[in-house]
Amino acid sequence: MTQSSVLLRCYIYTGPSTDVQIDTMEMTMRSLACLLLVLPAITLADRLPVIDVHLHAFAADQQGPPPLAMCTPIVLPAWDPAEPFAAAFMRAFKEPNCEDPVWSPTTDEELLARTIEVMERRNVVGVLSGTPERVAEWREAASNRFLPGLGFEIGGSREYSLETLEQLHGDGRLAVLAEVTNQYVGIEPDDERMEPYWALAERLDIPVGIHIGTGPPGAIYLGSQNYRARMHSPLTLEDVLVRHPKLRVYIMHAGYPMLEDLLALMYAHPQVHVGIGVIVHTQPRPAFYRFLQGITDAGYGNRVMFGSDQMVWPETIERGIAVIEEAPFLSEQQKRDILYDNAARFFRFSEEDIARHHGM
Ligand SMILES: [Zn+2]
Repeated sequence: MTQSSVLLRCYIYTGPSTDVQIDTMEMTMRSLACLLLVLPAITLADRLPVIDVHLHAFAADQQGPPPLAMCTPIVLPAWDPAEPFAAAFMRAFKEPNCEDPVWSPTTDEELLARTIEVMERRNVVGVLSGTPERVAEWREAASNRFLPGLGFEIGGSREYSLETLEQLHGDGRLAVLAEVTNQYVGIEPDDERMEPYWALAERLDIPVGIHIGTGPPGAIYLGSQNYRARMHSPLTLEDVLVRHPKLRVYIMHAGYPMLEDLLALMYAHPQVHVGIGVIVHTQPRPAFYRFLQGITDAGYGNRVMFGSDQMVWPETIERGIAVIEEAPFLSEQQKRDILYDNAARFFRFSEEDIARHHGM
């Protein structure tokens, strides 16, 4: 039963009556009965499916020795370069300056278990980035919740050959080429080294998610020397879109905070979608809401997809969902669009998939 049909029944049951015989006592009893009907419906609303277009299968120590505390929003003191930035950065995760941080699990097993626990609690299915091995391992634990992705970056251990990608795709182990993190090594989307991969994704119709926008604050001083703030601009993607008009691509951090560039790109290229991974919970709400409202006010709410960028803090998934659910400027339909409907359309989920997600 849907929530609205229960509410309708309740209204008929307790609503204004012309029958003067119904006394106060009976109305109270009816209201109580009605409450019992509505409560499970509210729980049902909590179970409406969510698609998270940005999950990572990491080891528990991927971001540093656990446990690490993630504040939502992230709180980082001003940096005095007398101290190495990495030390100041790590201190923020060891001695968090917020009241209710999410503490990361200390073992790989706990990280996987807590991630699945949150996904089951909030009925989340998602795109899982990682090495083929770890993605396979996580999918063994919950194959119905994870679409296989692939962490990809030119120039290092995560640069896979075209043959490998084609093979993984053929084996059903690569549904989405994401997360492409070339920005960390200073490689722009239209770099010639990336070109064959765009062509492959277009030919095989593999959706691509690419990191454009925020990484960790101060990423340049954490070892990513070629990372540049100017590469947050979504316009860096434009020539790729022109060369590959059939490509399905989403910008994994929405090019935050370069809103004007993003709106220009979305206007000129109506196929482009954005994910709101990490920014949804790391940025202070007024700043994130201003950015998101900038997109929805411009009429592009139908191309925004929820993403958490869950790394080693599983509960950030539900904190991110809450940020959308509590956004005062979004209608209920816009919230559902962002949490599920837009991604279901973008990934071309079948009616059977969508029915299955609703029944999970
Ligand atoms: Zn990213």
